[in-house]
Amino acid sequence: MAIAVGRAFPETIHRLCRWHIIDGHSDHLNTIFMRHKDIETEMMTYTPIEFEYAWKEFIDKFGLHDSTELRDLYDIRHRWVPAFFKEDYCGHMTSTQRSESFNRLVKSSFVDHQTALHRFARRILEVVLSRKEKEAAETRACQDVPNVKTAWPFAEQLSRVYTRAVFKVFENTLDESVHFRIEQYGVDQTQWIISHSKRSEKHDWCQRQFKVTADVVNGQFICECMQWEHTGLFCPHLLRAFVHVQVEKIPHTYVLRRYSREAKSDVNFDRRDRPIAGLDGVKLSNRTKVLSLDAQQLVKWGRRSSVAFERATSVMKGLRNQLEEIPADVHGLDADDGVSEHEVEVGDGARPSI
Ligand SMILES: [Zn+2]
Repeated sequence: MAIAVGRAFPETIHRLCRWHIIDGHSDHLNTIFMRHKDIETEMMTYTPIEFEYAWKEFIDKFGLHDSTELRDLYDIRHRWVPAFFKEDYCGHMTSTQRSESFNRLVKSSFVDHQTALHRFARRILEVVLSRKEKEAAETRACQDVPNVKTAWPFAEQLSRVYTRAVFKVFENTLDESVHFRIEQYGVDQTQWIISHSKRSEKHDWCQRQFKVTADVVNGQFICECMQWEHTGLFCPHLLRAFVHVQVEKIPHTYVLRRYSREAKSDVNFDRRDRPIAGLDGVKLSNRTKVLSLDAQQLVKWGRRSSVAFERATSVMKGLRNQLEEIPADVHGLDADDGVSEHEVEVGDGARPSI
């Protein structure tokens, strides 16, 4: 499988699902994890060195030195332990948990091994509808801005941007950051050492110090634990620095769209199932998205008054004439420039209903 994935997706990073790793070694691991629920969490360490210590402690504690299965598992640690691939963004997903939970939902409530094929299709449609209803309810419930426990400006900013669930995670990390000390190193006030101040709660082998760059002027924030690079969410070390250097506003490049309230308002892309990109490598679908969002804003402001409406239609007509003169730099477009039904819907501001 690994060889096939490498050939079919040469630019894709292939890692192993943690859930399958543990499930595939159920004889050894599941029994231990069931009895000692904290172990799995403790194995998910910040750094490779921490993992080495944690693994040794785990093997010693449970007398697993003779297990060839666990030795094999250790040999491929760089493919399933996040500490070894922190530089690879994973969007907070280090297992196939979403597809697995969906599988479980389908099998437990909608279909079983006796479901006929024609019923299967109908039942899957019911699953999709039920999920969409649930997601819509969650979206409605998340519209309110949550109460912010602290008055830090960056926390207030993120409360308006993050979804409610992600903001909760952020606040928990911010709470955790009070257990760290901060001191400057280097000559300018952008380099910091963040240290645990509560030794007793952690193992001896835990890394206690992390180097952090918090450069407010240039909007650059880096922690050597690389949690942001790996998940897109801030670590307690960076948040400790944000408080110390009094960050007013987090640059938008550090707020991933997938964690924001905007994530649900993506317009649908072109439905043609083939990749189309310009000479600069930017996909046609991406251009569609950017232009559609701008066009929606034009409709919003252009319909507020007759003067604005006349101005908008006039400028858009002139702009359209200009754009038609510019030759296309992508291949595979339809004769009419491939404007899909949905795109027409989005841009149809000629007869706005108020
Ligand atoms: Zn960190």
